[in-house]
Amino acid sequence: MNGGRDDTVRQSIALDGVRVDYKLTRRRGRRGLGLKIDGSGMTVAASLTTPMSSIEDLIGKNAAWVLKKLGEWSHRRIEPQRWETGATVLFLGEPRILMLDAGHARSAVEESLGHLFVKVRDSSPATVEKVVSTWYKKQALPHLAQRAFFFARLHGLTPPRVFVTSANSRWGSCNSQREVRFSWRLIKARPALIDYVVCHELAHLRHMNHSAAFWKEVERMCPDYKALKAELDQNDHRFRAF
Ligand SMILES: [Zn+2]
Repeated sequence: MNGGRDDTVRQSIALDGVRVDYKLTRRRGRRGLGLKIDGSGMTVAASLTTPMSSIEDLIGKNAAWVLKKLGEWSHRRIEPQRWETGATVLFLGEPRILMLDAGHARSAVEESLGHLFVKVRDSSPATVEKVVSTWYKKQALPHLAQRAFFFARLHGLTPPRVFVTSANSRWGSCNSQREVRFSWRLIKARPALIDYVVCHELAHLRHMNHSAAFWKEVERMCPDYKALKAELDQNDHRFRAF
């Protein structure tokens, strides 16, 4: 990395009785100490000669912040989806238990009584994920198109054309051709959260920005949008696992 010596070692420290593992990266020419916390944990950046006691002092002084940040990240970590019988998937905000049935020439998915019955040729995770994702996409389009139509009519807008995308970083988008796009993954969220995203995109048909006037329009269509937006932000890692 940038030509200098750079070595990373694993360390751990006790903070308020909690053992915290971290990566310590030492680099020639580094000035001061840096603490970084993200989805992969804590990283401390230091120079080649910074004594361990200074590093531990810095972490200790920031213990409350470190534990809080690590807690926030562990809460928001995207758990990998398991694709086996008994695993759960979210659909319209409710967990559905996967029931796999292999050996079928033609795959099929049926949702019933809190379960998702999946018939597949082979029950490899890749095959099951593909079959289930395809089924989600099929459910997503009519649900989203219907809600967009409903809210558009209710609020005097010409209903837009609705498309479903595989975006995993944004829930919706819209353009000046009155085309509204939603990620099919949104169908994992409860209906009220979906409605908030639908109203958000419809409000963009009147205001192509995030101005105060735009948010007023969102509020008119979706009076509890603030709570719903916060709930979506808090939970969106749960809708991104596949
Ligand atoms: Zn927007």
